[in-house]
Amino acid sequence: MEIRKSNKMQNVSYDIRGPVAALATKMEREGTPIIRLNTGNPAAFGFKPPKYGDILTNQLQLTAAYSDAKGLMAAREAIAAYESSKGIPNINIENVFTGNGVSELITMSLQALLNDGDEILIPTPDYPLWTAAARLAGGTVVHYLCDEAACWFPDIDDIRRKITPHTKAILVINPNNPTGAVYPREILESICDLARQHSLLIFSDEIYDRLLMDDAEHIAIAALAPDLPVVTMNGLSKSHQLCGFRSGWMVLSGNLSGIDDYLDGLTVLASMRLCSNVNAQAIIPAALADPHFSRDTLLPGGRLYEQREQAYVGLKNIPGISVVKAKAGLYMFPKLDIEMLRINDDNQFVLDLLREKHVLLTHGRGYNWDAPDHFRIVYLPKKDVLADVIVRLQDFLSIYRQY
Ligand code: PLP
Repeated sequence: MEIRKSNKMQNVSYDIRGPVAALATKMEREGTPIIRLNTGNPAAFGFKPPKYGDILTNQLQLTAAYSDAKGLMAAREAIAAYESSKGIPNINIENVFTGNGVSELITMSLQALLNDGDEILIPTPDYPLWTAAARLAGGTVVHYLCDEAACWFPDIDDIRRKITPHTKAILVINPNNPTGAVYPREILESICDLARQHSLLIFSDEIYDRLLMDDAEHIAIAALAPDLPVVTMNGLSKSHQLCGFRSGWMVLSGNLSGIDDYLDGLTVLASMRLCSNVNAQAIIPAALADPHFSRDTLLPGGRLYEQREQAYVGLKNIPGISVVKAKAGLYMFPKLDIEMLRINDDNQFVLDLLREKHVLLTHGRGYNWDAPDHFRIVYLPKKDVLADVIVRLQDFLSIYRQY
């Protein structure tokens, strides 16, 4: 008997945990230690999460029950207060949804929005869950360019050129995964102008908004658009190093006069999954009472800051690699000089690196980047491990050629 996946799965992929990562797991099972630089999972690298044991124990009666489909009132109030503190206007508690991570809310929000053939503008490179979820929902993804030569900021002219009568929404990932960019006000304002002119719904994925370094300032795009509907997403996976809790949220803000029907769709989808994990919701008020839990790791001398320095300096000194320094988040998206290095397949490159040097990276095209000339690196491991990775990568590239 042959069971085949549905046609809906065509062009749906998530390479961060794809076939190369599966090979790494197999190699580990067979006894080969692998340095995994594929997922932004801080606790797996020894970053200590806050302890919420008391909250979880004392509220067992509450958390053992299903909550309201949108989430516990106390969690939603804390979320509304946090997002309002970022200048986001007109947040009604009824328009705050908790989710099993931002991941679930991405899928829900696109399922509720997109008809077959509706277009959504998504950045390239992207966090690929967005592209996968939009396609699964029947949407047509149109990728707009983030420009490496301009600090990886969105190219506004490229966005403008790609808007059609079928474009329904635009996604901003700020701070960005995989590039580590933080967008300035002018760029966000230009995106708002385009959304205004063409009646686009704005999605903003801000899960790295509390992982800022240097002088970076995060501006919530919803704060610049009180006259537009904006869907802002965020969660505790990265800021509180709680990826495994699956604690995320989504807030609809601004001018919501025309979106009752969409909200109705979202409410049906939220109800169909009954509710999100209630333990993960129960800790939100305490977590958002201390939103900058990771602050110390991001300052000079702090672990994440120093690891970013180590990765950046190490990478840029490897012949054939150039890299824009991340200002936030957990990743950089270095460029390979593919002519000099004679590489024409980035997936093969990460596969061969894994087999020979036991380092797991993800290839740039996994982020819907269309040339085989980038990869993403996670700078969560300690400095000595990163130093080792740099040596292995440099050794590998000094002799590796694909043609
Ligand atoms: N959005 C971005 C940009 C991410 O990088 C990630 C995870 O890496 C997510 C969303 C998913 O986060 P969550 O753990 O809340 O599902």
